[in-house]
Amino acid sequence: MKSMVILGSTGSIGTQALDVARLRNFTVKALTSNSNIDLLEKQIREFKPEIAAVADESRAAELRIKVADTDTKVLGGEEGICAAAQLDADKVLNSIVGIAGLKPTLAAIEAGNDIALANKETLVTGGELVTTRAKEKGVAILPVDSEHSAIFQSLQGSPGKQSVKRLILTASGGPFFGRTRDDLKDVTVEQALKHPNWSMGAKISVDSATMMNKGLEFIEAMHLFGVTPDDIQVLIHPESVVHSMVELLDGTVIAQLGVPDMRVPIQYALTYPERYESPAKQLRLEDWKTLTFEQPDYDTFSCINLCRQAITKGGVYPAAANGANEAANKLFRDGKIKFLDIADAVSGVLDSCLLYTSPSPRDTR
Ligand code: NDP
Ligand code: MG
Repeated sequence: MKSMVILGSTGSIGTQALDVARLRNFTVKALTSNSNIDLLEKQIREFKPEIAAVADESRAAELRIKVADTDTKVLGGEEGICAAAQLDADKVLNSIVGIAGLKPTLAAIEAGNDIALANKETLVTGGELVTTRAKEKGVAILPVDSEHSAIFQSLQGSPGKQSVKRLILTASGGPFFGRTRDDLKDVTVEQALKHPNWSMGAKISVDSATMMNKGLEFIEAMHLFGVTPDDIQVLIHPESVVHSMVELLDGTVIAQLGVPDMRVPIQYALTYPERYESPAKQLRLEDWKTLTFEQPDYDTFSCINLCRQAITKGGVYPAAANGANEAANKLFRDGKIKFLDIADAVSGVLDSCLLYTSPSPRDTR
């Protein structure tokens, strides 16, 4: 692995990916953002990419002037981001947030570029369309999401799907773990953004508070590992040390453990199957003494089961659940709706979702 493209380089995952690129001396061929051109300019000056793309066209025009003294070509709009995804590179890391990541993933697949995928919304909304096309083009999709990276790693060495009993997806429980529905009526945006173990972008932080994140990850796991809803168990593990597990037919459970530092799964997705030193701290289990696991409270955190229902129905339902969540999550962050309204919005959209028009080729019959 020598060269890479980073989509969403100004975000939480994007900037951590640049830490990895710095450490491993990767050539960064393209960098992209939505509208943050100040940080993107700094990144251009340090990494000297061939292309920088900004989704917001007017911000792209501003950046073009700012970096006119460099050799970097600045593109604008979704087409610009997709062009960046199609550059000849060893890997395209997609760390865009939301459904905006779907088209660039498809563009990277069409160009035959292997993908390190952080953008879980790609698989939630594009599902089979993405996995089928990746297979046809011989493109590898390597998970960056810590739980999926853990499952991917735990599966190394197992003889195949027939030997796997189930996947155990761990969840920290987020900042509101242990609270009742009543406790959550008036929680603030600031409280929702305060994740106990991970420092992440705003959208996924709120998704972790509602546990919609675990619902999205449930769907993501089904597409990545080709399993059914009954093959996945969600377990709350507040310490975020065990990143997820795989139970095999003989009762053996294989887990991946580590300190919560996204640079580890980012680097693994980029360098797989090779392992290198990482900037993460060493895991000292003796400092933890106890690791705990329990069942989620599905009544209070209803988003997990809403996603499960959506993927069980299939077709357009997962994309509808994702769309409702993206909109409601933003409205909550903008102070326009309350915390519990997010799950209600997802549930309401699923109830009124009559169209069974599938985004997947298999279901369009
Ligand atoms: P951030 O909000 O921190 O960063 C998002 C990035 O995407 C930024 O570069 C942003 O640009 C860009 N972006 C936003 N909207 C658009 C758009 N419409 N078109 C093009 N680019 C856009 O998000 P995170 O890094 O936290 O998350 C990124 C993805 O990774 C999400 O799907 C998330 O679920 C997943 N993930 C994140 C983890 C984490 O620890 N953060 C862990 C596991 C998965 P700008 O800066 O200009 O807004
Ligand atoms: Mg995760």
